[in-house]
Amino acid sequence: MIGSYRHILLAVDFSEHGNHVIRKARYLSETFQAKLSIIHVLDNIPMPDITYGTIVPLEEYSAYELLEAEKKKLEQVADRLGVDIRQRWLVWGVPAQEIVRIAEQEQVDLIIVGSHGRHGLALLLGSTANSVLHHAKCDVIAIRLEDEVTSEESILERSALDPLAP
Ligand code: AMP
Repeated sequence: MIGSYRHILLAVDFSEHGNHVIRKARYLSETFQAKLSIIHVLDNIPMPDITYGTIVPLEEYSAYELLEAEKKKLEQVADRLGVDIRQRWLVWGVPAQEIVRIAEQEQVDLIIVGSHGRHGLALLLGSTANSVLHHAKCDVIAIRLEDEVTSEESILERSALDPLAP
């Protein structure tokens, strides 16, 4: 039997199936009346290293645009979930490492990630969910992503969790 959770960290990658994970996070944080934090790790945008007065090469602008777009996506999800502004994390790095680091720093007792249920070589190569599971010091819930969005069960569950769900 699982105990009560006080602080949940939701890791979002803005993938197509991510909404399912977001809905589960809302459900769990409401159920446990837990504080909810949210993290997105920037793993494919170069970190800007620009001092005042530097002429920024054109390609740097696209990195800023990408950053702004990611920021906006995080804000939208966080607003939807009512996540406090101080509990929103947009950080550079390796996703699993940063998720675990912020979880420890913020004394989170449950991390929520999506899981694709990989097989074969992909399983051997590992995934963010696997890595978080192996390195986190707190509980981790991996929400199965595969086929969830289309299955009848998922549609029923979605409407139960969120009356506004499409
Ligand atoms: P993956 O195994 O890398 O496909 O990702 C599975 C789950 O890990 C996602 O559903 C998210 O919960 C989390 N995740 C993956 N990449 C990121 C990221 N860049 N930032 C935050 N969470 C992530």
